[in-house]
Amino acid sequence: MEERRDLYEVLGVGKAATADEIRKAYRQAALKHHPDRNADDPAAAERFKEATEAFQVLSDEQKRGVYDQFGFAGLQGGGGGFPAGVDLGDIFGNFQDLFSEFFGGAPSRGRGRQGPRPGPDLRGVERLSLRDAVIGCKRDLSLRFPAPCDGCKGSGAAPGSQASQCPSCRGSGQISNARGFVMFTAPCPNCRGEGRVIKTPCTTCRGSGQQEKNKKIVVSFPAGIDDGQVLRVPGQGAPGPDKDSPAGDVLVQVQVEPDARFERHGPDLATRVKVSLTDAILGVKVDIPILDAKEDTVSLDIPPGTQPGHVILMRGKGAPRLDGKGRGQRGSMHVMIEVGIPAPAELSTRARELVDELHAELGKKAAE
Ligand SMILES: [Zn+2]
Ligand SMILES: [Zn+2]
Repeated sequence: MEERRDLYEVLGVGKAATADEIRKAYRQAALKHHPDRNADDPAAAERFKEATEAFQVLSDEQKRGVYDQFGFAGLQGGGGGFPAGVDLGDIFGNFQDLFSEFFGGAPSRGRGRQGPRPGPDLRGVERLSLRDAVIGCKRDLSLRFPAPCDGCKGSGAAPGSQASQCPSCRGSGQISNARGFVMFTAPCPNCRGEGRVIKTPCTTCRGSGQQEKNKKIVVSFPAGIDDGQVLRVPGQGAPGPDKDSPAGDVLVQVQVEPDARFERHGPDLATRVKVSLTDAILGVKVDIPILDAKEDTVSLDIPPGTQPGHVILMRGKGAPRLDGKGRGQRGSMHVMIEVGIPAPAELSTRARELVDELHAELGKKAAE
């Protein structure tokens, strides 16, 4: 696999960089490497492209979240990521926030509210079998997130040393120049717009002030959760920036694996069962597979004279409803009856005689 440079490294910003810092860093890189300004340096075009790609991801909060958690694999559809060619914006746009359903209508902590700013939300994707989704399950999730570096407490300067105010811009991060009547403001080239310079970078985080940490949580997926839904686990995300600020939330998108035995439409499940010709004529009791914590099958009486394609409804044998009317109640299992007509080669001589007799008998009856 092609080795790619870390996107934060490409723009020369830390993992905790604000949207504004990212925009500034990109602007600087774009100006510096723009192919029009570097006609004699063929590598500049490559660096310009690299910076633009980095900016496209890091300037989009959702793409950035995916990249933070899964790296390039998350953006390109590798392990644990998203299918290739799918616009991440679409996926996140379709997220259904089930918070109010699962946690008694507790309000989501708005970013604009007063009080300490909560830590960032962490996002994950979990694949569940159809059975686990229908009956509910618990999973251990391991989530990666950027946190202030332990070595330097987030300052980026080596222990014992300190970041100092940038002498060129005196800490503002910007340099202003007057040209005629107009003032031009540009990011300070000495500190790259940060306003401070680190003479001796921390060796743990190479001066970024950030370190990747790992958090393990147990997530309970409620019975009846469906493909594409997102479970919000409040207060289990990354720690807040200050001592008294709450942690962010964890958002887990559920992917439900298909099960060849069933089709699912919300709380309703459908399955097919094949019976023999004589069973369809005479009636029969069959075991129908269901998705239930206690039993794997349930007995169904197929009445005499059941037609091929007939659907029998088994109420309460589908998946639990998570929302709307009848929340917690289970949907139905729709059982479609298929009838196996034996091929001529499958009939013994005796069976063939009996079918001929039956044919004659039914024909006689019809003629009466
Ligand atoms: Zn450090
Ligand atoms: Zn400066």
